[in-house]
Amino acid sequence: MHHNNQHPFPCLNCHPHSYIRMVQQLIERCLLLHMDRDQCIKALAEHAKIRPLITLTVWRGLLKENRDFFETYSRAITPRPSISGYLGNSSRFGGRR
Ligand SMILES: [Zn+2]
Repeated sequence: MHHNNQHPFPCLNCHPHSYIRMVQQLIERCLLLHMDRDQCIKALAEHAKIRPLITLTVWRGLLKENRDFFETYSRAITPRPSISGYLGNSSRFGGRR
């Protein structure tokens, strides 16, 4: 049932704690790149062969422990309604010289 002895990465079955820690570190790297949750899950699945369910579980754990951080974070990466476009348009007309 289990794989052979060669592990390129920590193994979820043999070393669950180091595996989870590795996933956490990968998620943190995604956060530095301003990815949202789905992008992060996809990136880890593609590049580190981590199953989406595991990434999601670890993500939720991080979220529970760092609620404030994630609130600020998700606000920071969510595209805002185009207030800059609005200001850009109005300044075209409202220029005082
Ligand atoms: Zn193993």
